[in-house]
Amino acid sequence: MRALRLDHPRPAAERPLTVARVDDPSPAAGELLIDVAACAVCRTDLQIAEGDLPARRLPIVPGHQAVGRVAALGAGVAGWTPGDRVGVGWLGGACGDCAFCRDGRENLCADAVFTGWDRDGGFAERMVARADFALRLPDGFADVDAAPLLCGGVIGYRALRVSGVRPGGRLGLFGFGASALIAIQVARHWGCEVFVWTRSAAERARAAELGAAWTGGYDDRAPAPLDAAVTFAPSGDVVVAALRAVDRGGTVAINAIHLDRVPEFPYELLWGERVIRSVANFTRSDAQAFLTLAAVAGIRTAVERHPLDGANEALRRISDGTVSGAAVLVV
Ligand SMILES: [Zn+2]
Ligand SMILES: [Zn+2]
Repeated sequence: MRALRLDHPRPAAERPLTVARVDDPSPAAGELLIDVAACAVCRTDLQIAEGDLPARRLPIVPGHQAVGRVAALGAGVAGWTPGDRVGVGWLGGACGDCAFCRDGRENLCADAVFTGWDRDGGFAERMVARADFALRLPDGFADVDAAPLLCGGVIGYRALRVSGVRPGGRLGLFGFGASALIAIQVARHWGCEVFVWTRSAAERARAAELGAAWTGGYDDRAPAPLDAAVTFAPSGDVVVAALRAVDRGGTVAINAIHLDRVPEFPYELLWGERVIRSVANFTRSDAQAFLTLAAVAGIRTAVERHPLDGANEALRRISDGTVSGAAVLVV
């Protein structure tokens, strides 16, 4: 089979992924073998490919938003049948035994493993995944449209929950990439008033189309204090801008696995029981709740299709900020 392999992280412009011909993986006990149909490309894939997020294993096949069909079952797998549609996300496994896992917070498990970082991911024709971490996908989404729901969508949903925004509340979104495109639809479904900050005029127009009450650039002041905010840009300056915009008691949820730095800021910005909280991937329960909601709420994803061997181009477009919506490799 063909797989896109990362041997040595380097800048996206230097085409860090190479097309490799490798043997099909075989599913170990408890694993599914999956024929990949589509895999979305995430900023985290770019950060791994470029080395901003240090590789945990090399070579590695990136990709953690895969949609496909179950091709074969490893020993002991129950509940899945060959041919079932399946999704694979970033959280590839956890110990199942620590205090966090037992509490349903497997996203905080110290032994959690991640798809496309610890385990080979979905930039390939076939992959294996732990059956107990594989996700069931609702009908109503084509494979390419379901793929971006599996990282940006699920984590955006967890970020909304972590932000504490309530139905009808006033929410700020800082940055408007693939994850925010989905988060705004969930927030609008909940009846929230949504304010969007982004550098890009095209993204501001897109946010307005999706029901944003107000849009602006990072230097623009919020027209009214926010109940909650979610930051998507991998920039600490944006976190401080969000903190400046939230009202007393409001939370800024940081939806970024990597931040350039957290700049110094005056304590008055945090005073008044404001909270800054990171969002660390997602739990299976978030994923299934979000996927069900996405079907009910009619969440739509804007996708830019690339062939499997066009993954370097997709990474470069994410790096340049020229990708429109979510880049998806169609396998
Ligand atoms: Zn991701
Ligand atoms: Zn654990």
